[in-house]
Amino acid sequence: MKKISIVVPCHNEESSIPLFYEEVNKIAEDMKKKATFEFIFVNDGSKDQTLEELRKLSEKDSKVRYISFSRNFGKESAMYAGLEASTGDYVTTMDADLQDPPSLLKEMFDILETGEYDCVATKSTNRKGYSFLRKIFTKWFYQLIGKISNIEMVPGARDFRLMTRQMIDAVLSMKEYNRYSKGLFSFVGFETKWIDFELEERVAGKTNFNFGKLFAYALEGIVAFSTAPLVFAALVGMFFCLIAVILIIIIITKTLIWGDPVGGWPSMACIMFLVGGVQLFCTGIIGEYLSKTYLETKKRPIYIIKETEKSERKRK
Ligand code: UDP
Ligand code: MG
Repeated sequence: MKKISIVVPCHNEESSIPLFYEEVNKIAEDMKKKATFEFIFVNDGSKDQTLEELRKLSEKDSKVRYISFSRNFGKESAMYAGLEASTGDYVTTMDADLQDPPSLLKEMFDILETGEYDCVATKSTNRKGYSFLRKIFTKWFYQLIGKISNIEMVPGARDFRLMTRQMIDAVLSMKEYNRYSKGLFSFVGFETKWIDFELEERVAGKTNFNFGKLFAYALEGIVAFSTAPLVFAALVGMFFCLIAVILIIIIITKTLIWGDPVGGWPSMACIMFLVGGVQLFCTGIIGEYLSKTYLETKKRPIYIIKETEKSERKRK
């Protein structure tokens, strides 16, 4: 009998957690002849009653474990902590808001059981529940990263996937601080089967990702999995050098033929602004990479735990 660990990052999900647990538990009951289950909820510094909900659940049901962070470390850190704590033969990561239908787990499990695949990943055919602007920018982001990165990024990919222990161990072996999971899962390789589904709307609560947060996340993905922006900076530099050389030749020739009347300072000012701007922009690109390198070299922990179901039991 296989054991499945369900890793659930939670940030302000007090209203979703009971619904999530109920839904997934139904599936676990359906599958009880085939597999045993373990829930690992990761409370990522919630400001609401999420932790209380998790304490209640784990008291009621011994399948439920939880990890509570000392503050908000972000979804990527929460997923990493959950994967690290998981003990199952198969591990799945799911959002707490039931946007990804748990009923898919049965199909995903059967696919892994054939032994042909190491991972079953999901992608959504629609983006229901997300704003128009978000849909457009998501599309552009996938087009861009698809072009400039060596690893495969599947448009519409969700974080909902079922993976074998071997693959999880490979993902966990990458201890980098700036984690962009979609890239990391792709980076480790292994056979992945993609299945499509229709995205649901969030059952309760509200999204944790506003535009600014998503933009930062997209930048993180690009910096983590592509060095193309650095090449771009170098190319822009070369292009400007070329223009400068041509201009110098033109000016020298003009001076030799017609003498040297002083003039044209407005165009000079414009050029200075333009070149200055381009230089700052390129320095910014390099800075982005440098700052990530700086954070990596500090080797700070990816997350800090304040409480788990075990520590809570001991305390009582
Ligand atoms: N989440 C988290 N930490 C955060 C933000 C989000 O653990 O800092 C969790 C959240 O509780 C949810 C999942 O990540 O289970 C996806 O978040 P959400 O549904 O808000 O994102 P969206 O579906 O809008 O992209
Ligand atoms: Mg969601």
